[in-house]
Amino acid sequence: MEQLPKTQTIALREKLIGPSCQLFFRKDPLKIVRAKDQYMYDERGDAYLDCINNVAHVGHSNPSVVKAGCDQMSLLNTNNRFLHDEIVICAQKILSTLPDNLEVCFFVNSGSEANDLALRLAQIHTGNKDIIALEHAYHGHLTSLIDISHYKFNLPGGVGQKEHVHVAPCPDSYRGKYQDTQYSKDELGYLYAEEVRQICENVKNKDQGVCAFIAESFLSCGGQVIPPKNYFEEVYQHVRNAGGLCIADEVQVGFGRIGRHWWAFQHYDIKPDIVTMGKPMGNGHPVACLVTTREIADSFFNTGVEYFNTYGGNPVSCAIANAVFDTIERENLREKALVVGEYLLDSCQMLAKKHKCIGDVRGCGLFVGLDLVEDATSRKPNKKCAQYVVQRMREEHILVSADGPECNVIKFKPPMVFTKENADEVVLTLDRILKEVRHKEQLDAKIKSLQSQQAPVTVEAHTSKDHRPRRTIFEQTIKSI
Ligand code: PMP
Repeated sequence: MEQLPKTQTIALREKLIGPSCQLFFRKDPLKIVRAKDQYMYDERGDAYLDCINNVAHVGHSNPSVVKAGCDQMSLLNTNNRFLHDEIVICAQKILSTLPDNLEVCFFVNSGSEANDLALRLAQIHTGNKDIIALEHAYHGHLTSLIDISHYKFNLPGGVGQKEHVHVAPCPDSYRGKYQDTQYSKDELGYLYAEEVRQICENVKNKDQGVCAFIAESFLSCGGQVIPPKNYFEEVYQHVRNAGGLCIADEVQVGFGRIGRHWWAFQHYDIKPDIVTMGKPMGNGHPVACLVTTREIADSFFNTGVEYFNTYGGNPVSCAIANAVFDTIERENLREKALVVGEYLLDSCQMLAKKHKCIGDVRGCGLFVGLDLVEDATSRKPNKKCAQYVVQRMREEHILVSADGPECNVIKFKPPMVFTKENADEVVLTLDRILKEVRHKEQLDAKIKSLQSQQAPVTVEAHTSKDHRPRRTIFEQTIKSI
């Protein structure tokens, strides 16, 4: 399976691949050669528990999904200008999970393509240009989306904020502009929505209308934030009053990750005009979709445009998406996400009572975040601690990531086949690691020593002497905390 020694892969990647392309653990990257269910295996056969890959939604190398792809590939693959069944079957499945106003699908290849098309449809339908997006949000890598992704245009090397783009505060009750120490949940939803209303007002004062409001329904890039219940309800009214459409970006949080619903927007009493979906849809295969109303689809059609996307909605991608869909249903993965997610959340809450550096634990289903802080009163983000946790968890063969504007939120978004035993392992390992970081000075010293160990990978570092044992079955349970 390994075609090149790891050192050579690293050397070739450095030479041949764009240096700005992201790589996890860049100083000492993992070389993953295969994966199954919720585990990934490196070139030495060592397993890692995967809490990062929300894309491998129904489990890595899921046999039904692999079979569906192989079967369809050996039969037919072509662009969607030919009539075929898989695309309409897929559309039926998706639409069966959505409110009645959403009736029409456009199939594309990535979340970015879906969001770019969403902006295009919104501009055509409303005739307006101004977009409202949220602080810290990310909606994709295309130029049109970098322009509206505060998380990107705001970074060094970013292009800055364009005139047609308006950024509303992230409705984060824990560390946002308005916080739960001062306001009730309802007040918070109202206050954050007021900020959007103010933006709409400003746009109207320029004699313009709003084109669209776009937001993730649960804010993953913003640091696993769940907006107050009434937030989107209020915002959607303000945006619609200003002539705009409401776009729900479900690229990360859709397909049942939150357990109780298929789509995170269903957590609220709202009906978006456009929903975009991607990542988990193909379990690793590139397929994505935009769903909208008949009216909006007709506005696009009435321009005379002929939309064509070579790979979007091809039979293989749709067969794979159908298999993902069927697997979620057959294996009750939403129900499992809810049960295991609640267990993980409760366990993390127990952990938070022990470790003061866990300021907030939040989540729903298998969408969970731990907000690490320097102290509970100031809620100052503790990025160092998060860095340390991510690195040490990797050493313990558990893969987690940190996100949020200050990179201090430990994110869990594992494949949906993640079990309670996996949750026990994660929480007990975290408990051990957080004990190591009780004192700031100790943490600084530890980070320094880790950094000095993270010299670029050398051949010696991968001799058999350094070989880690395969993972052993974890037998403790959370009750032993
Ligand atoms: N929207 C959100 C919320 C995302 O997280 C991402 C990807 N991280 C995208 C859109 C873009 O999706 P893709 O990378 O498939 O283009």
